[in-house]
Amino acid sequence: MRARRGRGYVIEWRLGVACDRGDSAMNAEIITIGTELLLGEIVDTNSAYLARAIRDIGLDLYYLTTVGDNEERTAAAISTAMDRADIVITTGGLGPTVDDVTRPAVARATGQPLQFRPDLLEQIAERFSRWGTRMSSNNRQQAYVPAGAIGLENPVGTAPCFIVETERGGIISLPGVPREMIHMMEHSVIPYLQERMGAPAIIVARSLRTAGLGESRIDAVIGDLERLSNPTVGLAAHAGQTDIRITAKASLAEEAEALIEPIVQEIRDRLGIHIYGEGTETVEEVLLSLMKEKGLTLALAEAGTEGLTGERLAGAMHSEQVVRRMVHGADWGELATELGLPGAVDVPLGDRAEEAAEEVRQAAGTSVGLAVLSELNDEGWPTMAIALSTDSGKQSRERGYGGPPEHLITWASTLALDRLRRSLLG
Ligand code: ATP
Repeated sequence: MRARRGRGYVIEWRLGVACDRGDSAMNAEIITIGTELLLGEIVDTNSAYLARAIRDIGLDLYYLTTVGDNEERTAAAISTAMDRADIVITTGGLGPTVDDVTRPAVARATGQPLQFRPDLLEQIAERFSRWGTRMSSNNRQQAYVPAGAIGLENPVGTAPCFIVETERGGIISLPGVPREMIHMMEHSVIPYLQERMGAPAIIVARSLRTAGLGESRIDAVIGDLERLSNPTVGLAAHAGQTDIRITAKASLAEEAEALIEPIVQEIRDRLGIHIYGEGTETVEEVLLSLMKEKGLTLALAEAGTEGLTGERLAGAMHSEQVVRRMVHGADWGELATELGLPGAVDVPLGDRAEEAAEEVRQAAGTSVGLAVLSELNDEGWPTMAIALSTDSGKQSRERGYGGPPEHLITWASTLALDRLRRSLLG
């Protein structure tokens, strides 16, 4: 038996009596109890809070169940949960009225009789006297809990909470009122679970960053890895780029890293040049270090992108060593004027981009000229052209865009920077 003192009350629990697995592979199930939840009269915010709280301590959650204020069905839901989860957390149904069924339902599911607990009645009485109100006779019901349960004092409400430890794990019953439930989780239940789980699991994550390849194309290449459980592999799409996050759970950081490394290698082998960096690296940083390493210099011309490509280059490391000139126009006409070009609009966008890339490179005397032009096409759809110019010639590529309008310029600048990076890598 262990006892802990926390903010004016005592939590008692018996670690290892029933289950002392000391591993971090425990899983949980949440059961929210209340007919109002099933009728859609209140939103189940308790489940969302509990799901996050138990995720944060590395406990796996496989099921969320909601059941009405019915003793038989609640007992059945708890029995089912006990068969498939180590830890079952219930919220609601701890009040003093007949429709508060959690105490008898846990007793039924665990095969324990309800037992009157004078210590719990004392806690309830103390709460009423502190508030200066009279305890009614039915509050006595709240002092009946399954025999052998560990009582958890509830300093913010009247309903005592309790834990019934079973051979496999435990059932933790908390109040329905969110404020009370959260208080009990933070002050009693999370410390209990962490101690029960043994050494806390460490979660280590690495991100591989890709650009210019859509989420679905990446998924087609590494979909099998996305089904792994430790490490897990997940995708997060942003404008023009997708991050691949590899996350492992272990008791030591080195163990987690060792689980991650072969998967990172595998993904790198499969995606090759599409991966431009790791962690928080940006495509502009990677591009500029590559150019610096190769002793190359850059001039940029852009229009219809709010100058974002230039802004990104200016803010990245090695900018001063690599970038010699940046010209920006609100649209093609303005850019052409800046560059001293005729500014004809009846020429394909790709050709205009090549002209701009060549002109800005010649004027700045750099090894590379990059141009990014974005405008609406004849049908009113956003379209973009990226052009590169070097001593050995010019090349351009036009692309349409169908994503959210607010992502257009980020998408265009990311693709332009990445296009240059790819061409330097051959
Ligand atoms: P008490 O005896 O302190 O009232 P209780 O454990 O009996 O608590 P319930 O009567 O089931 O809890 O719920 C009390 C109130 O808490 C509900 O009327 C509702 O407003 C809120 N509540 C209950 N369950 C949830 C839930 N899952 N998500 C959000 N709010 C909830």
